[in-house]
Amino acid sequence: MLHIKTNKKSQNYSLLITKMGIFKLLFKARLDGIDSILFPTEISWFCKIACASCREVHDKDVSFSINEQVQTKGSRGNFNFVYTCKLCSKTSTIVYVHTSFSSYGDNERYSPIIELECRGLKILSWSIASGAMAVSSSGNKFSDTNFAENDWCDYDEEMGQLVGVYEIDTKVEEC
Ligand SMILES: [Zn+2]
Repeated sequence: MLHIKTNKKSQNYSLLITKMGIFKLLFKARLDGIDSILFPTEISWFCKIACASCREVHDKDVSFSINEQVQTKGSRGNFNFVYTCKLCSKTSTIVYVHTSFSSYGDNERYSPIIELECRGLKILSWSIASGAMAVSSSGNKFSDTNFAENDWCDYDEEMGQLVGVYEIDTKVEEC
């Protein structure tokens, strides 16, 4: 009895492990007069996801914020995002890795911004629209950035010149 029980448990466990993945969201841009880009916790992350079980790609980007938590039925713990696949009905989750958060200052090189622990889904691509804060070389903070067009600029009165974040690109790495 006990033996069977243990077996069952470890089987479930291995199933969970195989479906879990850490996904790094990487950001790249050409910075002009901007020293760093900060990503506040209330920012919305938009991701294209696919179900890890049936491989169905969700037709619309999903969005979530890391300071909002949701719960699932029958599962303990808090998640930043919960999704039930329309095709196979499997529930999948995203939780961000607390220690992973970083700002961007790596001009023209991909750099990881956040790591997400995903169970039951894969992240294929990601983007942000608004909410990131650009800090200029003069220390001015621009919180009304819009990265939806992949280029953003504004006038820095302190420096007396245009500053900008150009050729914005993102990618995802599965660890
Ligand atoms: Zn599915």
